[in-house]
Amino acid sequence: MTMNSLKEELNILKGKNRYRSFKTVEKISGPIVRINGKKLINFASNNYLGLAHRFSVRWAALRATWQFGTGAGASRLVSGHTVFHEALEDALAKFKGVEAVLLYPTGYMANLGAISTLIGPDDLIILDRFNHASIIEAAQLSRAKIWVYPHRDVKRLEEILKKAESQNFKNKWVITETLFSMDGDIAPLKEILNLCQKYNAHLMIDEAHATGVLGKTGKGALEHFSINPREVDVVMGTLSKALGSLGGFIGGKRETIDYLRNKSKSFIYTTALPAGVCASALKALEMIQGKNSPLQFLRKNTEYFFEGLKKRGLESSGEFTPIIPIIIGDDRATLAVEDFLKEQGTFAPAIRPPTVPEGKGRIRLSLMASHTQKHLDQVLEIIGKIKKDEHTSASAA
Ligand code: PMP
Repeated sequence: MTMNSLKEELNILKGKNRYRSFKTVEKISGPIVRINGKKLINFASNNYLGLAHRFSVRWAALRATWQFGTGAGASRLVSGHTVFHEALEDALAKFKGVEAVLLYPTGYMANLGAISTLIGPDDLIILDRFNHASIIEAAQLSRAKIWVYPHRDVKRLEEILKKAESQNFKNKWVITETLFSMDGDIAPLKEILNLCQKYNAHLMIDEAHATGVLGKTGKGALEHFSINPREVDVVMGTLSKALGSLGGFIGGKRETIDYLRNKSKSFIYTTALPAGVCASALKALEMIQGKNSPLQFLRKNTEYFFEGLKKRGLESSGEFTPIIPIIIGDDRATLAVEDFLKEQGTFAPAIRPPTVPEGKGRIRLSLMASHTQKHLDQVLEIIGKIKKDEHTSASAA
């Protein structure tokens, strides 16, 4: 690609309202951010439990950073890992109910590493159409055959699994997010697991958004559905969302994890997470499981928000989760709604294709445990105004 064609492509993006740029956050104070000198209530963060800003989580990061320094210096296999890496992997394995866990520097790299290492060119990968970009890219990297089923459509999934029986795939894998990042709905995991068992397929789940959010005690979708984690082959999760930190992990059988430690390129050939990052995630895990778990506040806020929608005649067709998409449709209108939200004192991102399907541009609201009812009332009022506006055909989805 020449430099001229880069410019042309960027201009095309601008013309289509698909150009992406940064907003500089000048200050964060819990759920309040300051952008361009204006204080806004933050509905743009996946820090669902508010843990990234809790004193004890920050303090844990500071202490470990002081002890071990800001950077890990090299890959864990080269320069060793700290007690915090080890303790975090053990705590995550216990939390998720799996035999063992391996940390990666990001969730994106966890998906890339696990999928491209465990799955090969003789295999079949079956994906939900709305799976995250990291899963899709990882599937391509594995060089396996990729088939896709419509979002949460178990009937189509079964047809695909049936069709695959007559072909000579070495292994079949079904990979799905559990709590979908842009739609806030939940994969029908019991049905998917039953199909995997019936058709002898492996199951991998991406719990990036479910970890710390779904299930009675925040363990994720398997707890939500009362599924034994040992029935699922690979469980992926992130530290970067409800755990308020950075990083990703893969959980599974001890042998699977040992194999990834030895073979997975995005684990071996990259520098380890700094100790402070691991220490903060460890503290966050402890707080989720503690007496005053922030999960109860996230649940209360979710309930309050959904009741508020109902009260205002804005029935939600989405599920009872803290990710709330407001479908707008057209890209320009979606950006206009984002600006309107900012004018009214709230920050929630416009999500446009290719992150979501064509014509399904949306505002993605995410609720946090640290929002107050006043914050929620404010955004509910604004959604009500958007709904009434004839120019945007917005509806709470
Ligand atoms: N999987 C899903 C479903 C995600 O939404 C994301 C991030 N948005 C990732 C994986 C990647 O995680 P990370 O941000 O930790 O790289």
